Amino acid sequence: MDLRTKGVQDINVLNAIERVPRHHFIPDALSDQAYEDIAVPIGLGQTISQPIVVAKMTGALEISDRHKVLEIGTGTGYQACVLSKLARRVYTIERHKPLHVIAEQNFDMLGLRNITAICADGMRGWPRIHGIDQAPFDRIIVTAAARGKPPAALLDQLHIGGIMIAPVAPDNGDAGAQMLKRYKKESQDTYSISDIMPVRFVPLLPDIAKEDENVREIA
Ligand code: SAH
Repeated sequence: MDLRTKGVQDINVLNAIERVPRHHFIPDALSDQAYEDIAVPIGLGQTISQPIVVAKMTGALEISDRHKVLEIGTGTGYQACVLSKLARRVYTIERHKPLHVIAEQNFDMLGLRNITAICADGMRGWPRIHGIDQAPFDRIIVTAAARGKPPAALLDQLHIGGIMIAPVAPDNGDAGAQMLKRYKKESQDTYSISDIMPVRFVPLLPDIAKEDENVREIA
């Protein structure tokens, strides 16, 4: 209801959000905040996205049940689960192993069979695994902020006609000035780009997180 009053009209998006219990994706100590429209810490300096932002990003992706979607930045898996209610298949990449493990547990617990998750560097796109490529993707969603522009590897893995939604921070890294952008791939190397809204995301960082980045306990 809150999202509806904030202008989210897409009934499919609202239904998908309604069907994913957000408290499962938040540490127990903070679960009383699960149904507030705020981002909440999930440990390792990361956050679960704010519901209104999940709703806007999901809507902007214009997903159909024929689509194969790639997500960069699984976190504990909330956005991936919302996507899984709308898309044919969801592929999602997280660079922190402990968060990847929690996300997998959440997908299992909720019985979602159309999500494939890996721990890797999403800035490089979905890797070839056992000789099998999943790219190109119909839709790509990046849930951490790229600096200057999104990684070229991700635009490469987008289907022609496909849409990518990504938060982009200015080159100087000012996290307060991020803009959520929509990229539509018009041909192999041309894109139309538009601004959706100002946002605040954690940064997109290269490489899998090292052990010492993972030792801080999950809240
Ligand atoms: N989609 C999540 C939001 C998680 S916050 C949700 O639904 O709540 C963004 C996540 O992006 C963090 O967990 C962070 O570790 C991850 N991340 C940052 N850079 C990354 C990269 N290069 N590859 C994969 N994940 C990355």
